[in-house]
Parts: sequence; structure tokens; C-alpha cells
Amino acid sequence: SFRPAKRLGAIGVSEILKIGAVAQRLKREGRPVIVLGAGEPDFDTPDHVKYAAERAIRAGQTKYTILDGSMELKAAIAEKFRRENRLDYAADEITAGAGAKQVIHNAFMATLSPGDEVILAAPYWTSYADMVKIADGTPADVLCHEDNGFRLDADDLERAITPRTRWLLLNSPSNPTGAAYSEAQLRPILDVLKRHPHVWLIADDIYEHLIYDDMPFVTAAALEPSQKSRTLTVNGVSKAYAMTGWRVGYGGGPRELIAAMAVVQSQSTTNPSSVSQAAAIAALTGPQDVLIERRAAFQRRRDLVVDTLNRIDGVSCRRPEGAFYTYASCAGLIGRRTAAGSIIDSDGAFCRYLLEHHDVAVVPGSCFGLAPHFRLSYATSEQNLREALKRIAKACRELS
Ligand code: PLP
Repeated sequence: SFRPAKRLGAIGVSEILKIGAVAQRLKREGRPVIVLGAGEPDFDTPDHVKYAAERAIRAGQTKYTILDGSMELKAAIAEKFRRENRLDYAADEITAGAGAKQVIHNAFMATLSPGDEVILAAPYWTSYADMVKIADGTPADVLCHEDNGFRLDADDLERAITPRTRWLLLNSPSNPTGAAYSEAQLRPILDVLKRHPHVWLIADDIYEHLIYDDMPFVTAAALEPSQKSRTLTVNGVSKAYAMTGWRVGYGGGPRELIAAMAVVQSQSTTNPSSVSQAAAIAALTGPQDVLIERRAAFQRRRDLVVDTLNRIDGVSCRRPEGAFYTYASCAGLIGRRTAAGSIIDSDGAFCRYLLEHHDVAVVPGSCFGLAPHFRLSYATSEQNLREALKRIAKACRELS
């Protein structure tokens, strides 16, 4: 009979996927379900990027490339890091993989041994913990409190560090809270890392361009140059350029780390798709106005969602600095009763009630490690959002 590997033992099917499956089933049954769970922009990949991919196919760029990215792609990434982050990386300090996810996976596979710990700032993207576990590491959660803007507190970080800590993984702006760090907010965290040089940093900057109210984006290796030799700066084209399906992410870091990550990738997927690499080059080097337009659209949606949620009795929602998620508290609804007579005793129960009785799918905060909350993705049209918010308000009104 089938016997899975031991390392899969601790890894379950994500709760998010289960909710997605229920939503899909209800949709098949003809229900008008609105899913606010997406981790990808609803916009399309820009045309000039698609044309670049077509040209690459016609020009025969259909063969293996350099393992962790063609020289042209690495040059485009190096230029991006210089232009947008004031970071200088040479070609052998840059890696490209099939999404930021593969880059992070490579880093863990290349560095973690059993018993090694990775500090995760909860609530966090659920994949982080499972990626640590698949690489035989141990995730160490540190809770980021709502009254600290869902940001990691430097003292809490310091207390969580042990001799076995290998990495801190920091994601700004954050999935699922949308919280982002200013220079002043990042500084104390980097001061702690300075005192513990055995702890390296992964800066997951994938939502860099989705940051609002003209807040400047800041990344650790640029803010504190002494940290650069112990930092992997991760980014990608998925969220910025609406290119989730193309699967290109990248990282900049010390060359020994980058070389070890290439070994991992060489024995799994080899290079990211050559055609996708051509598309990523076009995205990184082509016109950037699309970033500004889309950022403005996301900011309008964020404000619509936050303002509407805060008018609902029992719900309260912090205005996030970035990404395309709100992470609202539903603490005020806990203990209330549905029209059908069941008690809302958790964020999971609230989300099930919303989905089953009011046709809106959002993700319970308990999936991400901080409850009672729910994550709402506003990567969908304003029209969809307005209708969904109307349903959420009605669902809450009907609780007693
Ligand atoms: N990091 C975070 C925080 C994410 O939310 C995601 C995608 O949901 C990724 C990384 C992965 O992005 P990619 O498509 O580049 O693998």
C-alpha cells in the first residue's frame, strides 16, 4: 500500500484549499458564490510582456538556459535591484526559479538540517511553515499583535532566537495582514539580527509594488548594508505584473548561498521556463506605468473594503499598508447566533456561515495563526467587492 515519506507527516492539506473546494462545489450547484480568497491580481499580464514571450518562442528560445536564470534575465534582475532598491548584486549573487516560492524552498533545502529553526512572524502565508518542514526544519512562530500593526516586535524576536535559529523570514507588505514596515519599524529588528549574526534573513518582498498612500517601500539589505551578506532578498513578477502563471521569481544574496540553492534547483526543476524568462525580462525592463495604475486601483479597493467593514457591527478592520488583503477581526461576532440557530464560536464558524448561507468565501484567521479574524482578498473587481460586502453586512445583521 502507499506509504508517504516521513517528511510529509506533519503537512496537511491547506485549510484555504478546503474552503476553495467547498466554494467550487457550491458554484457547480449554481450558487452565485463570490470568492475573496485569491492570492493573485485579477488584472491580465501586460501585452508587451505577452508579445516578448511570443517573440522568444519564434526566435527559438525554447531550450535549456543557465540553471538559475539566463544572463539576460540576471542582468534585468540586477538592474531592478539597483533601480528600485539601491542594491548591488553581481550575476553570481542572483538566482531565478519557478516563482518566489521555489526560491524560498531552495534556500531552506540548501541550509536547513533536522532541528534547525526558522522564525516566522505570525500570522503568515501558510506555505512558509510547510516549506520549512519539508526541508526538515522546525518553524518557530512569533505572534505579531494587532496593536503593533501586525508587525514583529523586536523584543519578541530576540526572545525567540536560539542557537539553532538559522533564519528569520520577514514578509513586507504581508500576506495575510497587509502590514508593511517603514524604515523606523524595520530598524529595531535589524538591530536584533546584528546582535545574533548566526540568524540570517529572508526578506520576502513579493508585494513590494502593492504599497499605498505613498509609503516608501524599504528592504532590509538596503537599509542596513552590514546585513546584506546575511540576507536573501526575494522577489518575483507574479504579483507586481500579474504574472502568477508564468512562474518566475528571483533572489539576491551571498554567492555561497546562491550556489548552494542552484544545486537544489539543478536536481529538481532545472531552469525556469525559457519563455517565461523572456517574459520576465520584458516585465522588469519595459514600461513600468502599469505598476502605478494598478496600485491606484488596489488602493481604492482597499479603502472601499476597510471603510465598509468598519461600518459593520461586530467587525473591525485595520487599514493595511499594502498587499491586497484585509485582515479584519470578527471578535465582536463570537457568541452570536445564526438564524438557523447555530452559534458562531470561532472565525472558522463565521467563515463557514458566510459561505454556506451568504455565498461569500473568505479565509479564517486561524489558518494563518491569529484568530478570530478573517482574510479578505480584494484582488477582484470593485463590482464584485461591493456585492460581497453587501452580503457580509447582511450576514452579520442577521446574527443575534
Ligand atoms: N510570498 C508570499 C507572501 C505570497 O503570498 C506568495 C504567493 O501567494 C509567494 C511568496 C509566491 O509567489 P510566486 O508566485 O512568485 O511563487
